[in-house]
Formats: sequence, C-alpha cells, structure tokens
Amino acid sequence: MDETTQQLIEMLEDSPVLVALYDQFDRLRKANRAFRQAYSIHPNEDPTWSEIMRRNFSAQTGTVVRTTNFEEWLISTQSRRGKVGYRAFETDLHDGRWLWMNEMVSDDGWMLCIASVTTDLHSDKRALRQDRDSAVKASYTDELTGVANRRFVMARIDDMLLQRRRDSRLAGCLAVLDIDHFKAINDRFGHAAGDEILCRFAKEIHANVRRSDCFGRVGGEEFVLVMPRTSAAEAALVLERMLILVRAMKPLGGHGDYRCTFSAGIAETDPADVSLSLYSRADKALYAAKSRGRNCIVVAEGDGDRSASSQLIAP
Ligand code: GH3
Ligand code: MG
Ligand code: MG
Repeated sequence: MDETTQQLIEMLEDSPVLVALYDQFDRLRKANRAFRQAYSIHPNEDPTWSEIMRRNFSAQTGTVVRTTNFEEWLISTQSRRGKVGYRAFETDLHDGRWLWMNEMVSDDGWMLCIASVTTDLHSDKRALRQDRDSAVKASYTDELTGVANRRFVMARIDDMLLQRRRDSRLAGCLAVLDIDHFKAINDRFGHAAGDEILCRFAKEIHANVRRSDCFGRVGGEEFVLVMPRTSAAEAALVLERMLILVRAMKPLGGHGDYRCTFSAGIAETDPADVSLSLYSRADKALYAAKSRGRNCIVVAEGDGDRSASSQLIAP
C-alpha cells in the first residue's frame, strides 16, 4: 500500500465521520471506528447490512427504525437500497444523534456509506424533512407487497437504457413476470388469499435478486425485474432459477399443498430502445410464454437463442 493510501485509511479510521464499505452482497467489508461504535460491530466482524439492522433493531441501538414489523420494513427498504448511483438522506440513531447519510454505489454493486453528524443542524425543520422523506419512500413503494412500485422500476429501466447508450458493451435485460392463472386462484380461494400469494411471491423473488437488479410490482399480478449489465443468456438463467424457487414454494398457509407458477418474458436492451419499446418486447415474449403453456420463460426474438431451451422446462 502506498503512503497516501495508508494515510487516507488511518485518517478515516480515527475520523468522527461514519464510514462503511459494503460489497455487492451487502456484506460489510470495511468500517471505521465511528461506524462500528454506532452500530455495535466488533472490529473482526463482517455482518451483512440486514444482519446489522436486525440485531440493532432488537437491541434498540443503531438507527431508529420506526416500524412495528421489522421484516416488512426490511423488504421495502432493501428493494430500493443501492439501486441508484447516489442518494443522501437524514437518519437518527437511538443515542440521539442525527446523521446525514450519503450512499454511493459503484457499477459493480459495491456501496460506500459516509455519514456526518448533524444533530444541531437546522433541527427546527427536521420534522418537515422527515415527512418529505417518508412521502418519497411511499411514492416508490408498492403498498401491498412492500417491494418497489411501477414508478421506481420504470426509472431504473431508464437508467439502464442510459447506461447502454453511453457504453454499447453494457447491454441489460428486462424481464416481465406474471403469475399464472391468478384469476382462478382468486376465484378458488378468495381475494385475500390472492393477496397473500402476491406478497409471498414478491418476498421470494425479492430475496433472490442481485443488488444490481431491481425488482418491483407494476400492477395486479405482474412484476418486473430490471437487470443492468446482463446478457439475455444470463437473464434466462436468473429467471430459470426463480421458476424453480416459485414452484417449490407453498404460498398459502391454510392450503399447505397448493403451489403456484409464473411465466416470464425477457428482452435485451437495444441501443435504439426507449422504455416502452423494451417493455413491449418483453411483454410479447411473456405472451409467447403464456401461449406455450405457462410456467416457463421466453426470450424475445433476436435477443439470444434461449427460447427453445427455456421452453423445455417442464411444468
Ligand atoms: P394468465 O395465466 O394468462 O396470466 O391468467 P391470469 O388469470 O393470471 O390473468 P388475468 O389477467 O386474466 O387475471 C388477473 C387477475 O388478477 C384478475 C384480477 O382480479 C386479479 N388481481 C389484480 N390485482 C389484484 C390484487 O391486488 N389482489 C388480488 N387478490 N387479485 C388481483
Ligand atoms: Mg396472470
Ligand atoms: Mg397479468
């Protein structure tokens, strides 16, 4: 390590500013003393962000999380965490300090967090700022499932297309996922059970989404997965894995044996794409998957030659 880097690391370690670095799996890889103290992390530990939040929530330390259902809060926060290159927000700790948190995400999904203490700064307007932040959060969250909503994922599609226009090597994919025979589920078990399946489905997919991808509900029983820097072949593998996970799921507590499936269409970004053209190709591929008997994925024509093998997955 050269002298300058060494100096930088030593100064950051002793700084009152909180500094943390997470890898693409959201595991803490480096944190300075101020950060570790605020979140009760031992120097040799490398917990994931959700582990840090969960145990601080139980101990009533670290960040103040205003919720009665921690797991719900976690899903909705994670579905937006690290999905944009930079964001900053105000947050408070149980020890009474207020932080101005900056999150920077690299293209390969690492996240650098830097927070300065702003306890006495403009505290008179704080309630207003908090209200604004929770309104912004609500405007990006699907109320039923807690994952990102249409507005949020459409903006991530635009980000992906912008990336593609800047660098033609950075192709990405959009997948549209639709639960099979959902109307029949509602008819057979009732609307509340339908809602339960939507939540369970969203939770299962959300738990298996890579940091650089963005998953959200766009309406009814239709969801999308935005996968920047991903080829059609890779995207098909991701979705095939999800088909298997969902088939194995028992989404209705009261009907233990009941299983559900979904179909998906995948389209790869084209330099000329706008979000609607990309969406429309993925949607056509979804329609093809439905026509082929459902419980399968289809890659839009011209976007790699995966459709035949994908179709072979038996229901
Ligand atoms: P396919 O396999 O072709 O997708 O058939 P499908 O029955 O899933 O599709 P269709 O579009 O015919 O029906 C979708 C149903 O989803 C109709 C609607 O009542 C139901 N639905 C939409 N939003 C919600 C919701 O928020 N909760 C519940 N429980 N049902 C919903
Ligand atoms: Mg459907
Ligand atoms: Mg549908």
